[in-house]
Amino acid sequence: MAKTIFFNIPAQGHINPALPVIRELVQRGEHVICVNTEETRLAHEAAGAQFEAYPFIPTMDGLINNASGGNLADNALSLVKIAEQIMPWVLGLLEREKPDYVIFDSLCSWAKQATEKLGIRAAGSISTFVIAPGAMPPVPISSLLSMVGSLIPRMPAYWQVATRMRQKFGVKGVGLAGALSNSGMINIVYTSALFQPGGDKLGSQFKFVGPSLAERPSSADFPFEAITRKPVIYISLGTINNDNLDFYRQCFEAFGSYDAQFILSAGKRTDIKALGNIPANFIVKNFVPQLEVLQRSDLFITHGGMNSVHEGLYYNVPLVVIPQQFEQSIVAQQVVKHGAGVALADKPPFGQVTATDLRAAVEQVMKARTQYQEAAIHLGESLRTAGGYQRAAKELIAFGRGK
Ligand code: UDP
Repeated sequence: MAKTIFFNIPAQGHINPALPVIRELVQRGEHVICVNTEETRLAHEAAGAQFEAYPFIPTMDGLINNASGGNLADNALSLVKIAEQIMPWVLGLLEREKPDYVIFDSLCSWAKQATEKLGIRAAGSISTFVIAPGAMPPVPISSLLSMVGSLIPRMPAYWQVATRMRQKFGVKGVGLAGALSNSGMINIVYTSALFQPGGDKLGSQFKFVGPSLAERPSSADFPFEAITRKPVIYISLGTINNDNLDFYRQCFEAFGSYDAQFILSAGKRTDIKALGNIPANFIVKNFVPQLEVLQRSDLFITHGGMNSVHEGLYYNVPLVVIPQQFEQSIVAQQVVKHGAGVALADKPPFGQVTATDLRAAVEQVMKARTQYQEAAIHLGESLRTAGGYQRAAKELIAFGRGK
């Protein structure tokens, strides 16, 4: 039995793919210590892991609320500041527990810096696309300029943190953009090489295992008997950029008279009563059991979160992608490139759609649904056969044994 420590952040999109891997590692005899914020303790302990909570840091707890502005540069700066605050605790934990190897989510720069300093072997867990030279699709110049433009003003603050960390802890800086894409000696990537931009050009340290989907402990009740029409169209903006009442009202306007069953996941922070009159063909919930809903869906209107898109494709569902930020626009681009759906408002400012745009996009996909679904099936096949959480666990165990 080898001992590993898995560092993650408190975000559903990063924890969801990790949990089945953790459970599988435990079942195969590894001693797994998971590190995250206190409110995620139960989910990790239910997977069989030992749990250690990060020291309480308001910005870590508020990571998701703060991220909802969608500014990647702010998120990156906030992560490196968190790294500075928790570094003494992280170094102390590693020195005390002496793990054989470490696994870290790609946003946990503190784990990369600490393991490099202490000479501990570490693997990455990447729940987005790999960001590496040769592995980026052509990005529209407006997206690139807006991203670079938002990074530059934050560089002085980043350099101050990086300098202090070098002086105080003797760890290397990770770069401001790098804070969002830390990789390890090997990396578990929860997509397929086919769907990853430039996937065939990336080295063997990237293990494309596809989505890590296992039955989820029922986290949401859903009235499946209330689905009375076909086709079923599922709408979700994910768990972060989802307090968007205007968008939900536009969906009502676009589809209130459309002959289909709509299921809308409005997000846990949305007051459903504040949405006003809900059309009769809509079921609106704060959170739905997404995997079960997708298995009954004919079309998925999504913000383009990696997990949501993978889950849709895994169940052969064509997509209308409305990215809310840069990273999701790359996902949207891949969906369009492979013909598995269409994208709306995929350039800055992201996510600005009208009811007319929405209706036109859905009609476009529904009219040629067979063709879009064939492409979704093709991508879905690449995801289903990539090995999932079982392969992830095998790769990590072999890595832990130095193989
Ligand atoms: N999810 C869910 N029910 C909902 C909304 C979201 O189970 O009502 C899950 C979804 O299955 C996915 C995750 O939350 O695994 C969202 O991750 P994603 O990467 O798509 O988006 P993010 O929330 O990180 O923007």
